[in-house]
Amino acid sequence: MIQDISPAHLNNHYDPTKTADENSIILFFTKEKKLLGRLDDGTQEISFPRFNVVKDIAKEKLTYLFSIDSEDFFLMIADSENMDFLDVSAQDSDSYIFHDFRKFRSAYYYPQTYVYAAFTAYQLAEWYMVTRFCGKCGAKNEHSKTERAMICPKCGNIIYPRINPAVIIGVIDKEANKLLVTRYRVGYGHNALVAGFTEIGETLEETVSREVMEETGLTVTNIRYYKSQPWGIASDILVGFFCEVTGSREITMDNNELKFASWLSPEEIELQPLEYSLTNEMMKVFKKGAVKK
Ligand SMILES: [Zn+2]
Repeated sequence: MIQDISPAHLNNHYDPTKTADENSIILFFTKEKKLLGRLDDGTQEISFPRFNVVKDIAKEKLTYLFSIDSEDFFLMIADSENMDFLDVSAQDSDSYIFHDFRKFRSAYYYPQTYVYAAFTAYQLAEWYMVTRFCGKCGAKNEHSKTERAMICPKCGNIIYPRINPAVIIGVIDKEANKLLVTRYRVGYGHNALVAGFTEIGETLEETVSREVMEETGLTVTNIRYYKSQPWGIASDILVGFFCEVTGSREITMDNNELKFASWLSPEEIELQPLEYSLTNEMMKVFKKGAVKK
């Protein structure tokens, strides 16, 4: 999956004392979800600008994000796609362009640590962009000096990074040995599983039952946790569950959410083109007959 970067390690402990050095990687995001980088379609290699090719940007303007092994990543929110801040005399500085950040996950680009870095950084960039002002009193927020938080100097309101829990559900018909496979009406076009966000006041297991009922009209039992995955696009943490259908197998599809929902046997399930998602791994586990009871 996208987060499986071992033996590399993402250290997301917030260190407010970190400042960029010449080798630090700077992730420039625009408000339009674009990220500055180089994607080599020949070698499939990703690179991001380092501080030594940046000029006229004070180190204090960069926000420390995280490190992966010995490499530190900093965030800079760019006002536009203007790249005057790149030192054109530096080697290769002209080959960076702003890409829609989802492009970094559209094929197997390397190293995977940078793909994962781009999506983790996107979540933080989004959060920093929407927390510039206090939602209670409207004053301009400041960075906490001790932890990853924004603090309102006027009313003391503290805002921590937001993570939205969502479930991915592998519904199994045990007797027929089939899995409930879906395709979303909009967005991602390949096979998926029933999924949805947790509502306030709900357990994850209740989300599973509700989402399966809403999207397909089915009732489930024996709900058990499989694995989780930080995903990024909707600031979500995906929580994967397997469960079994009980009662009627007849699907009543929610046409607003889905364009396809069907019971498929292991050999009928076509996997996604990339092995990045928890959904794909769950379909694969079912295909192999390896779902734990
Ligand atoms: Zn305030």
